[in-house]
Amino acid sequence: MFFRRKTFYVCSVCGFDRLQGPLYKNGIPNVSLICRCCGFQPGYDDTELGYTYEAYRNEWIQNGAEWFREEEKPERWDLDIQLENINVFQ
Ligand SMILES: [Zn+2]
Repeated sequence: MFFRRKTFYVCSVCGFDRLQGPLYKNGIPNVSLICRCCGFQPGYDDTELGYTYEAYRNEWIQNGAEWFREEEKPERWDLDIQLENINVFQ
């Protein structure tokens, strides 16, 4: 039996490393992708609303770093460890 190996991507905003695809591919936003952790939607939050990754991240953290899909939040989740995925240290 064969299993297809799944590739995950890292969110540039929050460091969540289980994205189903890249936020951008060849410069084109993957608008169907919303980060389950920080809720960032490429092509909307940045292009439409004018957020940089950093600005979105800072606001998200200031608002309590709540999961967009709270039910998918792992039991032992650590924001600081996740942010290390994108070399952000608070
Ligand atoms: Zn994210």
